[in-house]
Amino acid sequence: MNSPAVLEQLINALRCLPGVGPKSSTRMAYHLLQRDREGAQRLAASLQQALDKLAYCDYCNNFSEHAVCSVCQDHHRDKSSLCVVEMPTDLMMLENTRSYQGQYFVLMGKLSPMDGIGPKDIHLDKLLKRAQDALVEEVILATNFTSEGEATAHYIGQMLKSRGIKVSRIARGLPMGGEIEYVDSGTLSTALLERKIVT
Ligand code: ZN
Repeated sequence: MNSPAVLEQLINALRCLPGVGPKSSTRMAYHLLQRDREGAQRLAASLQQALDKLAYCDYCNNFSEHAVCSVCQDHHRDKSSLCVVEMPTDLMMLENTRSYQGQYFVLMGKLSPMDGIGPKDIHLDKLLKRAQDALVEEVILATNFTSEGEATAHYIGQMLKSRGIKVSRIARGLPMGGEIEYVDSGTLSTALLERKIVT
C-alpha cells in the first residue's frame, strides 16, 4: 500500500535535518501526526517565523532579528577583541563563562573540503572586513580542536596575519578533538585566558 502523497512529502522534508534517515523521519512524522499535533503546529509556526524574521547580524554574523544583534549593540562590551567561533552554540558557551567581554564573529561552519565547504561558505570576506575595523586590536581564534576546526583556525590565522592583524588561538586546555560546545565553563575560561599569539 502506498502512503498518501502529503505524508510522503512530510517524511522526505524531515530528512533535511542532520543525521535523520528514512526510518527516523518516518518515526518523526508519525509521532507529530498521531501523538503531538499541537507540537507539530508549534513547530510549523516557529519554523516559519524564524525563517521570516531571522537574518545574520551585520557585524558578528550570528542570527539576529535586527540588522545589528544585541551583543554587538551593547556599548559596555570591549571593542578591541574579536573572538571567532564556529557556531552560535559556541558563542553561547563562551558567554556562559562570563570571562569574555569582547566582540564575536560566528563563521556558521568550518572549512571542510570533503563536504565542499570552502572559505566563501564560512563568510571569510565578512570576517576580514570586521577584523580590519580600526577598533579591533586582537582576533582570538576559538574554533574547535577538531582537525577541521584546527585547519579553519590555521587558514584564518594566516589570512589575518598577512594583513598585519594580531591573532591568537585559545589554549589547548581543551581535550584533543575537543568541541567547545561540550566543555565546562572553567576549562573554557582557562583556554581563553591562556590563549597563544599566532606567530
Ligand atoms: Zn552581532
